[in-house]
Amino acid sequence: MSGKNDQVLPNDRQAQLRRLPSVESMLEAAAEDPQLADAPRSVVKSAVRRVLDAIRKDLVSRTPPADDPGISKQAIFRQIRNEIQSAMAENLTHVINATGVVVHTNLGRSILSQKAMAHMTAAAGRYSNLEFNLAEGRRGSRYEIVEDLICELTGAEAAMAVNNNAGAVLLCLDTVARGREVVVSRGELVEIGGAFRIPDVMAKSGAILREVGTTNRTHRRDYESAISENTGLLLKVHTSNYGIVGFTASVGLKDMAQMGKQAGVPVMEDLGSGTLVDFSRYGLSREPTVQESVAAGADIVTFSGDKLLGGPQAGIIAGSGPVMEKIKKNPLTRALRIDKLTLAALESTLRAYRDEASAMQTIPTLYMLTCPLADIREKAKRLTGLLGQINDDRLTCRIIDSASRAGGGSLPLLELPTRCVAISIKDMSAARMDQGLRQQRPAVTGRIESDTFLVDLRTVLSDEVEMISRAVNLLLSGSSS
Ligand SMILES: *Cc1c(COP(=O)(O)O)cnc(C)c1O
Repeated sequence: MSGKNDQVLPNDRQAQLRRLPSVESMLEAAAEDPQLADAPRSVVKSAVRRVLDAIRKDLVSRTPPADDPGISKQAIFRQIRNEIQSAMAENLTHVINATGVVVHTNLGRSILSQKAMAHMTAAAGRYSNLEFNLAEGRRGSRYEIVEDLICELTGAEAAMAVNNNAGAVLLCLDTVARGREVVVSRGELVEIGGAFRIPDVMAKSGAILREVGTTNRTHRRDYESAISENTGLLLKVHTSNYGIVGFTASVGLKDMAQMGKQAGVPVMEDLGSGTLVDFSRYGLSREPTVQESVAAGADIVTFSGDKLLGGPQAGIIAGSGPVMEKIKKNPLTRALRIDKLTLAALESTLRAYRDEASAMQTIPTLYMLTCPLADIREKAKRLTGLLGQINDDRLTCRIIDSASRAGGGSLPLLELPTRCVAISIKDMSAARMDQGLRQQRPAVTGRIESDTFLVDLRTVLSDEVEMISRAVNLLLSGSSS
């Protein structure tokens, strides 16, 4: 655009309004801008209108001061370009997880293994045998795709996967306990993040909650005296995101299974996170495994696909043949059905568990939870090296010892020793840094401890180290006066 005639007359609102560039001239400028080559005309048009309208409104609503030079055409076009670019940018975008929370629900919980991603892409771009039995040339069921694998890995007689674990719990309660009482310990009436409360799900399923025991202590006799002809289910819920410590008592799943058998009432455990590996073998605290719950005699076990399992969002139900048969026939399954892309990712994730050593390396969630400290330290050193190369006096950084968390309502009390890079910028608060780094693309989100911005390298992927350094560099250049 030419710079001529750019400045409009001072202190003359009418003149300023008249001199605003026309919609056409701005559309032309946008069409010539190579940075906007991909922008559809409709997006450009509405951005031009929005920006010009806003400027017009602003001019009408205030009296410009005598020395106001008015807004230049270039400045208007820059605003329009920003509008277009932000309209074109995807809303779901890459965030570098420097929080040290491995299963971070707000950041998408688990990231997938290479194999799971590849399988998902293949299932997305081609037709598949999703519901087609290739051997017999007849209609098949999507639920058969992972059933055998789940049974093999957990020891269950039958299994299915649905949209998520909240759905799995709802489906199971609706199937076995609609209109009947579900006996649950008061210590297990939990709320999981994202408004999932056991009592509310129970109410939605039409089951009647029968609380027993107290918050910290529930005994076998509490269950026994609650069981009647109205009992539809004995339910155990993993307390997930909190721990009850001190003077506590709870009834083990084995005892519950025995009581259930005696009374002819099915027993279900909602494991929440659910894991197929015994984390105590890797130096972490013990989490009950799905295999143990199945072996303890639970008729139904439910757990998430994207928490400690490290797969896609899904709810997995493993259980005894007769109960699973009823669950599979419930029409609700249609509303909760698992999507084919999820199914592809879930299958690959489950397959990896056949070789646990390889699962620990290839499933990112498992790797991040158990990786050697030396790996984390190496990334921290690389980051401080790159930050040092920025060569800006305002920037200081150092490696500190800290603790990461498992997240996702799993292993709530566990602290994982980690290394963080503490980054400070002169005259910029940690909160301001945090805000500034979130505006970068990819966005960087870390954590603030004692007024210092920390990058926890446990959850940062190797190729993201450079991206963090670039983001800090851009933040510095954006804030230079
Ligand atoms: C997380 C959790 C759920 C919900 O699982 P989603 O996969 O998020 O739907 C249910 N129950 C427990 C105990 C949980 O921890």
